[in-house]
Amino acid sequence: MANLSKEVIQRNYSIINEQIAAAAQKSGRTGENVRIMAVTKAFPLSFVDLSIQAGIRLFGENRVLEADQKYSHLLKKVELHLIGHLQRNKARRAAALFHCVESIDKLETAEALNKYAESEERKIDILIQINTSMEENKCGYTDPDTIYRDMEQIMGLEQLRVTGLMTIAVFTKDESKVRSCFSSLRKLFTKLEKRFAPPDFSILSMGMSNDYTVAVEEGANLVRIGTALYGIGRGYNA
Ligand SMILES: *Cc1c(COP(=O)(O)O)cnc(C)c1O
Repeated sequence: MANLSKEVIQRNYSIINEQIAAAAQKSGRTGENVRIMAVTKAFPLSFVDLSIQAGIRLFGENRVLEADQKYSHLLKKVELHLIGHLQRNKARRAAALFHCVESIDKLETAEALNKYAESEERKIDILIQINTSMEENKCGYTDPDTIYRDMEQIMGLEQLRVTGLMTIAVFTKDESKVRSCFSSLRKLFTKLEKRFAPPDFSILSMGMSNDYTVAVEEGANLVRIGTALYGIGRGYNA
């Protein structure tokens, strides 16, 4: 989009911030501890540069190779999260790139990431992705028993810090269905916290452009925003 500028991004960001504050207030919180991630997948590097100029430092990408191409020279400047599925054969590159992998949904993936993090001498934050909508085309754990079993093992991986949970809600106009995805993530968070007491467990990553206010009402403290921040949808060609 020809007229995307630092100012446009800043304006969109502050609108999102205001919406977050209002949503947080509804649920008796303040919006101050809700972080906004800029999701730049399918957007060009120029969007990343403008976002940095606008003061944004937290970014998300859903593919390892695209993230590598856009961010490998920026890793000291920004915090980068992987929000898409991680294939095991990309774990080595992922271990060098991301500060946080939000999409851990298998023990084997966590183990592979841990192994390469060790050779990179890095500690990596991870979130466990939960498929709260139970849609078959979505990634994430669905079965509570498997989550409980793997949680223990994943917590034992030395280079990884389990910092919370992530989900993508069902895509529908029916707000009650969206809300129930988010509230079930929050309930699971509380259960896991009680049972395992992971030392750095604090993040509920939920909410995107179309549903982040509902997510914040339900307790999100990390929202992942692309479309609403850049003012255009995906499929844009640089
Ligand atoms: C693309 C994506 C987002 C951002 O989506 P928008 O609707 O553009 O805000 C958030 N989370 C995940 C996992 C995504 O893949």
